Amino acid sequence: SLSDRLTETFKGLRGKGKLSESDVNKALRDIRLALLDADVALPVVRAFIGQVRERALGAEVSQALNPAQQVVKIVNEELVGILGGETRTVRYAKTPPTVIMLAGLQGSGKTTFAGKLGYWLKEQGHTPLLVAADLQRPSAVTQLEVTGQRAGVPVFAPERGNVGGHDAVLGTGEGTRSFGDPVAVSRAGIAEARAKQYDVVIVDTAGRLAVDEDLMQQAADIRAAIQPDEVLFVIDAMIGQAAVETALAFQQGVDFTGVVLSKLDGDARGGAALSVATVTGRPIMFSSVGEQTKDLEVFHPDRMAGRILDMGDVLTLIEQAEKAFDREQADEMARKFLAEEDFTFDDFLQQMAAIKKMGSLKSMLKMMPGMQQMRAQLDALDEREFDRVEAMVRSMTPYERTHPKQIDGSRRARIARGSGVTVSEVNQLLERFREAQKMMKSLARGGGGGLPGMPGI
Ligand code: GDP
Ligand code: MG
Repeated sequence: SLSDRLTETFKGLRGKGKLSESDVNKALRDIRLALLDADVALPVVRAFIGQVRERALGAEVSQALNPAQQVVKIVNEELVGILGGETRTVRYAKTPPTVIMLAGLQGSGKTTFAGKLGYWLKEQGHTPLLVAADLQRPSAVTQLEVTGQRAGVPVFAPERGNVGGHDAVLGTGEGTRSFGDPVAVSRAGIAEARAKQYDVVIVDTAGRLAVDEDLMQQAADIRAAIQPDEVLFVIDAMIGQAAVETALAFQQGVDFTGVVLSKLDGDARGGAALSVATVTGRPIMFSSVGEQTKDLEVFHPDRMAGRILDMGDVLTLIEQAEKAFDREQADEMARKFLAEEDFTFDDFLQQMAAIKKMGSLKSMLKMMPGMQQMRAQLDALDEREFDRVEAMVRSMTPYERTHPKQIDGSRRARIARGSGVTVSEVNQLLERFREAQKMMKSLARGGGGGLPGMPGI
């Protein structure tokens, strides 16, 4: 597996400080194999590896990760980026009904997905209607009716057995063996939804075993006629290398707004996801993970990246290494905090700069063992207030910063003027500072170089 291979690679690379070209190439060789194993199309693998190499070579050397780990991290981030970064689901029309058209090869899972999507929409509080616009075989309509029944979602279908008697669904196309006109049925379905106030219409269409002109034309005609809000291209995750060709054919023939990856419950590692997302630039919105109505998941790019790379454990390791590194830094800061004989405004300023650099105050507090006791004090320090506090401290003379007790009324007034705040704000700062100082002293007294219950200090 990739994990095993990378473990080998890690061994050779551990301890090195720099991300050299040979490090990068070594790690990328394993990743290339993993992508091919996952059935990512070859041209997509090539382009992807090139992109990662470029970024990896220009990357700053991480202090937390070894070079191979760093390359894997970049690979993962790029994968997640291509797979969509953030999750996107259905975009609803401003005026209902929202019309969702399904397209894809025969057997790709459109009809099954129609039921799952209907069920999912119902769970979200919508009132969906399924429309049977696959009129190639009567059994396709029956299949959708059964699917809808299972999902508890109504199905709009043309009447069968009396083709001549139902104007709306008369087959008109030359050479069409279908028993009705899918465009007319789609239109009628949407009219039905409008009349009966269904708020989402899912139009199930016909597919063929292979891409062909007829199929594309029919789907394109339906699209042109009903102007759907979303056209979802359903593709079987097992399709492997053929994913690129199929996706491009559908993009050119019908075009689509999103992708549904079906049959992800099987062995497929999901390389098709990367191929399709890369060549079409369309977001993957759902993954179908079984034959049951409930087997539908909103697509998660990060999970998919893990599946394609087949190395959830490696990614977890990387995450842990980074966390451990952050923790070391936090410990170091806490140690400095407590080593001070006397806590001065200079320290205060330094701490603030460090806190600002580390990001949000709350997340830092979470990282600092034993700092919970100070939570109240630091919490009171609104991060937007940092700048104001900084201005006040900067308006103090060096003497005042190290002798806060000497800051009398006239000095306070001067500091207030110098930093553009009120005297009462300066008073508040001094008050808060005194409390922090007290806290520092009591913490420092508590341990003689270390505090009970504060690991690493
Ligand atoms: P359509 O021709 O595109 O409408 O495809 P269908 O919805 O009829 O699905 C074709 C076959 O794939 C059926 O046997 C389904 O039961 C099966 N199928 C569809 N989606 C999934 C899925 O997510 N997982 C599995 N295991 N089978 C699926
Ligand atoms: Mg079908």
